[in-house]
Amino acid sequence: MGQGLAAGFVALAIAGLFFCSGRPDRRPAEVQTEEDAFARRRRAMISDQLASRDIKDKKVLEVMGTVPRHLFVDPGSRNLAYEDYPLPIAEGQTISQPYIVALMTQCLELRGKEKVLEIGTGSGYQAAVLSSLVSSVFSVEYHPALAAASAALLKKLGYVNVQVRAGDGFFGWPEEAPFDGIIVTCAARRVPESLLAQLAEGGRLVIPVGETDDVQRLVRVRKVEGKPVEEEITLVRFVPMLGADRKK
Ligand code: SAH
Repeated sequence: MGQGLAAGFVALAIAGLFFCSGRPDRRPAEVQTEEDAFARRRRAMISDQLASRDIKDKKVLEVMGTVPRHLFVDPGSRNLAYEDYPLPIAEGQTISQPYIVALMTQCLELRGKEKVLEIGTGSGYQAAVLSSLVSSVFSVEYHPALAAASAALLKKLGYVNVQVRAGDGFFGWPEEAPFDGIIVTCAARRVPESLLAQLAEGGRLVIPVGETDDVQRLVRVRKVEGKPVEEEITLVRFVPMLGADRKK
């Protein structure tokens, strides 16, 4: 009886070993080669566009090396997903250039336990990058169709700590405030008061600000003893923040 049991365990262990080490890749060959090609381009993106510039946050580099950016762009632009420029997505919007995603994420100074708010979900790519770097992500998208599509994609790909809702991000997400980090991926005329109010003490708000549509200042605002302290990061070009920001 004892021996029979022992033999059973040995057999199970051997079967386990066999399945763990020798599991065949059952994806069709063309899918494997395509995915491998995307993975190669993603590695090149990390070294040529990010690490070689001023992206030094190792976690940001690591995470952007895992997020399948090609699944967040329009199928027609998949081959360009890892190139050094923004790409069009639905509703006339754009997914930012990888370097800008990395730079803005790095500016949030994330350590792993944060609660982060994003304004402008778009394709969901930036939210997916944040998902692996923090505890929870709340993302607001103005266009309901984009909000629904990105929420579904993020869920399908397993980014379960991201919540998306449709609405005007000018007003933030007050029910979930305060946030340790807020990232705005559309250009505001000025820093919305409601977002500052929803920032935790010591928190970072990263936002493109400007009166014109062709160039804005990317700024980081820290809340220090309840007051905003602003620093300029670089010049950028983002699509405009729609809704209340335009009506002022
Ligand atoms: N972060 C996105 C890129 C966003 S492009 C990504 O990773 O793909 C900017 C997005 O901001 C667009 O989807 C646009 O619809 C959205 N947007 C514009 N004004 C907004 C507002 N007031 N509130 C929320 N989202 C807004």
